[in-house]
Amino acid sequence: MNYRHAFHAGNFADCMKHALLLSLLGLLTRKPTPLFVLDTHAGIGSYDLMGAAQRTGEWKQGIARLIPPTPPLVPFVSLIERVGLYPGSPRIIRARLRPGDALACCELHPEDAATLRAAFRNEPQVAVHHRDGYEAVRALLPPPQRRGLVLIDPPYEAPGELDRVVQALQDGAARFNHGVYAAWYPIKHRSPVTAFHLAIQATGLTDVIAAELWLREPTDPDRLNGCGLIIRNPPYGFDAEAAPILGALRDTLGEAGAGADLIRLTDE
Ligand code: SAM
Repeated sequence: MNYRHAFHAGNFADCMKHALLLSLLGLLTRKPTPLFVLDTHAGIGSYDLMGAAQRTGEWKQGIARLIPPTPPLVPFVSLIERVGLYPGSPRIIRARLRPGDALACCELHPEDAATLRAAFRNEPQVAVHHRDGYEAVRALLPPPQRRGLVLIDPPYEAPGELDRVVQALQDGAARFNHGVYAAWYPIKHRSPVTAFHLAIQATGLTDVIAAELWLREPTDPDRLNGCGLIIRNPPYGFDAEAAPILGALRDTLGEAGAGADLIRLTDE
C-alpha cells in the first residue's frame, strides 16, 4: 500500500467528491429517521495542507482556488473554513451526523487507521475499523438504521480497481438494495471510463447516475484529467444541487476543454 492521501488532499478531485458528498448528506438528513454512513476507504480524516500536501501542491489547483466560493460551493467551502484543516470524508460526514446517526470508517493502512481511530476516540457515533472496505460492504450491510449512504473511494493504485467497485456495488445491492451508494473514480482517458459505465449497466442495477468533471480533454492516460462519482439511488433533489456544483468547479478550476456532466446510466 503505497498510496497516501495526505499528498493529494484538497486537490480538485477531493473538492468534487467532497462537495457532492456534502450535498448527498444534506439531502439524506432532511428526513428525521436515523442514517448510517459507511466510508469504505476513509483515509486519516483531516489533512494539514502545510504538511505532506505541500510536496505535490495539488491543493493549490483545488481548494485554494475555490476561496472565496461561488454560491453553489458555499456549503462545502464554509465547512472547510470552520474545520481549519482540510477535512477528509470522515470529518465531512461527521459534521453532518445528527444524534442517532452513525458512521463506520474503514481504512486498511495500519498507520492511517491508527491516526483516524485516535481522531475519533471520544466520538461514540463513529466507529473506525482497520479492515478492507470491500469486505466491510459485505459485513456491515444492511445497517440496523435501514437508511444509509455508502462512500467507496479507493486509491486506484492497483489494476482492476474499477472492477472491484462494480463488484462492491453489486455486493451492496445484494444486502442493502435501497441504500445510497457513491463511488469515486478517476478520469484519465475516456476508454476505461466508458468500459466502467458499460460494466455498471450490465449488472442490471437500477437508478445509477454518474457525475463527472474534467478539467481538460481526457486524452492523456498518465494524467488525472478529471474524475467522476457514481451515485446509485440518488436522493430526490440531488441532480438539481449537483449540476451547479459541477458547473462552478468546471468554471473555477477548468482549463481549455473542461466540462462537467450528469449522466443517467440506468433507469429508476
Ligand atoms: N475517502 C478519503 C477522503 O475523501 O478523505 C480518501 C481516501 S483515499 C483516496 C483511499 C484510502 O483507502 C487510503 O487511505 C488507503 O490507505 C485506503 N485503502 C486502500 N485500500 C483499501 C481497502 N481495501 N480497504 C480500506 N481502505 C483501503
